[in-house]
Amino acid sequence: MIVYLVGAGPGAPDLLTLRAARLLEQADIVFYDALVHPDTIALATQAQKFPVGKRCGKHSTAQQFINKRLVDAAKRYGVVVRLKGGDPMMFGRAQEEIAALEEAGIACEVVPGITAALAAAAQIKTSLTQRGSARSITFATPRVGASEPDSTWIGALAAADAGAIYMGVGEAGLIAQALIASGKPPGLPVAVVESASLPEQRIRYTTLADLPGVAQATITGPALILLGPQFRARANEIAERCRSEKRAATA
Ligand code: SAH
Repeated sequence: MIVYLVGAGPGAPDLLTLRAARLLEQADIVFYDALVHPDTIALATQAQKFPVGKRCGKHSTAQQFINKRLVDAAKRYGVVVRLKGGDPMMFGRAQEEIAALEEAGIACEVVPGITAALAAAAQIKTSLTQRGSARSITFATPRVGASEPDSTWIGALAAADAGAIYMGVGEAGLIAQALIASGKPPGLPVAVVESASLPEQRIRYTTLADLPGVAQATITGPALILLGPQFRARANEIAERCRSEKRAATA
């Protein structure tokens, strides 16, 4: 009779909290997102498991229907786990689920997970905040639902030293154009981290002006766009490594 909204982390199944693992083992029923790793779902050995995936452009289960299923399940089962990619409280519509549960008088708890931006920063070994150059970072998405009011995401990204953009690859052209128009330099360093923490992970370094070309090229998995002055250092380092490898090969 309690619903746990549990963060599954960014992808790699061992990037999961101990609390999440314990709850999965105890769960009677699990509703999981499309991006959750099968090995994580498999931890719920005793549970009935249902996908309620939402992957952009593909089949999605309407949020209201998910809310209703959670409420119904809570009435029938002891431990209900709603397993969400990354952290439930970051672009995860957790608030709508919490509101539906509270309205129905059902107890719920939230278990945090590692959000994609933190996994991406770890993978490229570049701190999201840096002394002297990046003292603020905006977490934003250009994605706005049809019935939602206009978002201030451009202003928020323009105002901060650095940015982490979720669900942004499909709108890379708009992002680059809007940020350059609002004063960000076209040469601002950008890192695009696809499938962070998974074996198929790919990292691309570019600039704001060149982001649309890079984003459109080949990205198929979930990807995080990181922008800010700190993402240059690493790009230069990699370019230098390539140059020295080439020099070594031709020497
Ligand atoms: N609640 C999730 C975010 C859900 S929105 C979290 O905290 O991470 C889905 C978006 O997250 C994707 O479009 C992508 O931008 C990002 N994302 C999720 N998993 C990712 C991964 N492994 N690597 C890079 N980006 C990822």
